[in-house]
Amino acid sequence: MDDPAARLECERQETVARLSSLTGDFDQIVASSRDSNADDEHDPEGATIAFERSQLSALARQAHHHLAEIDAAVQRLAAGAYGICDRCDRPISEARLQARPVARTCIGCASAG
Ligand SMILES: [Zn+2]
Repeated sequence: MDDPAARLECERQETVARLSSLTGDFDQIVASSRDSNADDEHDPEGATIAFERSQLSALARQAHHHLAEIDAAVQRLAAGAYGICDRCDRPISEARLQARPVARTCIGCASAG
């Protein structure tokens, strides 16, 4: 079994990299939309920029949320509660933790909703 701390750290680095590339794109789109004519009501490009901006901010929110989940998982690891289901207190399977290192519930509880 590989080290969950290393797995979480790897997950964090990937998420931070994704977030920084998203916010880089985000800043670029905001800057380019600021440079363009403010009266873009009938400009199809203005609509595209608004759409891209909302997509990027949704993705950035997801990445932020995922970082918070990683932090919580690191805390559970430190407390010795990592890999234990929040609901039924049974161990979460190694396969599930590999697929989803931040999982708080076992597959049975997760699919029960
Ligand atoms: Zn469970």
